[in-house]
Amino acid sequence: MRLLVTGGAGFIGSNFISYMLTKYPTYEIVNLDALTYAGNLDNLKAVESNSRYRFIRGDIGDRRVVEDIFASGVDTVVHFAAESHVDRSIKEPDLFVRTNVLGTQTLLEAARKYKAAKFIHVSTDEVYGTLGETGLFSESTPLAPNSPYSASKAGSDLMVRAYYETYGLPINMTRCSNNYGPYQFPEKLIPLMIANALNDMPLPVYGDGLNIRDWLYVEDHCNAIDLVIHQGVNGEVYNIGGSNERTNIQIVRTILNQLGKPESLISYVRDRPGHDRRYGIDATKIRSELGWTPKHNFESGIKETINWYLGNREWWERVRSGEYRQYDERQYGKG
Ligand code: NAD
Repeated sequence: MRLLVTGGAGFIGSNFISYMLTKYPTYEIVNLDALTYAGNLDNLKAVESNSRYRFIRGDIGDRRVVEDIFASGVDTVVHFAAESHVDRSIKEPDLFVRTNVLGTQTLLEAARKYKAAKFIHVSTDEVYGTLGETGLFSESTPLAPNSPYSASKAGSDLMVRAYYETYGLPINMTRCSNNYGPYQFPEKLIPLMIANALNDMPLPVYGDGLNIRDWLYVEDHCNAIDLVIHQGVNGEVYNIGGSNERTNIQIVRTILNQLGKPESLISYVRDRPGHDRRYGIDATKIRSELGWTPKHNFESGIKETINWYLGNREWWERVRSGEYRQYDERQYGKG
């Protein structure tokens, strides 16, 4: 099996590559990543000398680069590459359309041309919009994205669907809830709060802090994608979530508590525009049809994550200082 993983230098993609190379001793992985601010080859140090792993720096929207990779042989595509941060999408929506919509279409076209055996599109629960106090997102919940990020992901989801319906490309889509775990860029809630708390800096919390997200440990997401690769029925969408709904302020208090830091570090800031109130995933389909069960509950997962950030201070300090970008640029040139 030869996998093309896009966005493999990011948070989930890098965890996924390590997971797959370890679990499947014969699989080969090509990682196509543009190394934007979110891509970090430090995440892949443990696999960089593995003969079954190859890194190519390139943009998923660059047809020539993408076609060259497909021409060299790809069985399955696992497509993570995206602009992924909601706040950045509010400031720079055009970049999100370019990468998330047009980039995905470039990949789909190459997958069609070179007859890939499977195209897994990694999407998000955010495409469903926001929930009230009750109810959960199922795979048939209508798409109602509210941010430029989620709208661009929904746009890519619809294009993936069209390639299945129109051309019969063997696709699956996964829509996962919020991930957390090692190697997450410290602009996202959990690593940002851990890093700020460790530096005794204010912990910025949007609005009243009562927005709810459904949290999943990244390894459980990787395991779900693994199942979809091997057992997913073509054309199907699978929701992935760990039934771990927490308010943002609960998360922040948990982190402060575990680090022994005072709640006086919490600083409420003006709410994000269009901020979705609540996400919650119904993962019955992947549980019952593919036999998926998450291994980590939130209490153990958050402990492991905090310990990882405590033990890998150098990693996140380098990321925050921008030093790793200089390292990547020395190795691969400017993007
Ligand atoms: P990330 O921002 O950490 O990583 C994204 C990666 O994509 C980076 O390595 C970046 O360099 C690369 N990239 C960006 N633009 C590119 C381009 N034009 N060409 C090639 N590579 C490019 O993101 P993440 O948190 O690891 O998320 C990965 C995927 O999973 C995304 O598609 C995201 O929408 C989805 N997702 C994320 C979460 C979450 O909680 N993080 C939840 C559900 C779904």
